[in-house]
Amino acid sequence: MKIIMLGAPGAGKGTQADMICAKYNIPHISTGDIFRANIKNNTELGQKAKSYMDQGLLVPDELVVDLVVDRVKTDDCKNGYVLDGFPRTIPQAEALENALKASGENVDYAIDVEVPDENIIKRMSGRRACVTCGATYHVEFAPTKVEGVCDKCGAELIIRDDDKPETVKNRLAVYHEQTQPLIDFYADRNVLKEVDGTKKLEEVFDAIVAILGA
Ligand code: ADP
Ligand code: AMP
Repeated sequence: MKIIMLGAPGAGKGTQADMICAKYNIPHISTGDIFRANIKNNTELGQKAKSYMDQGLLVPDELVVDLVVDRVKTDDCKNGYVLDGFPRTIPQAEALENALKASGENVDYAIDVEVPDENIIKRMSGRRACVTCGATYHVEFAPTKVEGVCDKCGAELIIRDDDKPETVKNRLAVYHEQTQPLIDFYADRNVLKEVDGTKKLEEVFDAIVAILGA
C-alpha cells in the first residue's frame, strides 16, 4: 500500500500518517522530519534546508527528490509506506512517478486532508513536536500526558520555528501556489481520495480506514 498524504501545512497529515502506519505496519516517511533531524545533527543537508524552512519556503526539489526515491527502495518499504510532506511540487510528483514506473509500481492512494486556511493558524500555534521521534501533539486538541514531554519517547517537545503565524502565512501561500496543483495531478491518475480534516482526529482516521480497508 503506497500512500501519499496531501493537504495544507497543519492539516493533520503527520498525525494521520502516524495512525495509518501503526495500523497497517508500514513506515512513515516525513520529509519535514528528515530535514529537522538533519538540522538538529547539523549536517550539510540540514544547513542547506534550514534557510528555506525558516522562511516558510520549499527546499529545492534537487535536495529532496533523490533522498525520497532512495528511501522508498529500502527493504522496509516493500509492503508499502506513507509519504508525508512529499511530493510538494509537480516536478517532485513526476520524479516519484517515474522512479516507481521503472519498477512497475505506482501510488495507490493520495489522501487529501482538507482543512480551510482559517483553521490552520490555530492548529499551528498549538502544535508541539518531538524532534527525537517525530511525534506531533497539540496543546488543546492532542495534549501530552505531561506538559512539554513526549508521550512516546520522553524527550522534550519544541515549538517549531516555522509555526510562527507570519511564517505560517507564507507556508499557506506556498502551498496554494506549488502544492495544491497535486490534487488535480492525482485526480487525473484516479488515486485521489478526499477527507474532511476539520473533524476530530479519530473521525478523520475512521474516514481514512474506510478508504483503505480495515
Ligand atoms: P501536518 O503534518 O499536516 O503539518 P500535523 O499532523 O502536524 O499537520 O497537525 C498540525 C497540528 O494540528 C498538530 O498540533 C496536531 O496535533 C493538530 N491536529 C491534527 N489533526 C487534528 C484534528 N483533526 N483536529 C484538531 N487538531 C488536529
Ligand atoms: P513539514 O514538516 O512537512 O511541514 O515540512 C517543513 C518544511 O520542510 C517545509 O515548509 C519545507 O520548507 C520543507 N520541506 C518538507 N518537505 C519538503 C518537500 N517535499 N519539498 C520541499 N520542501 C520540503
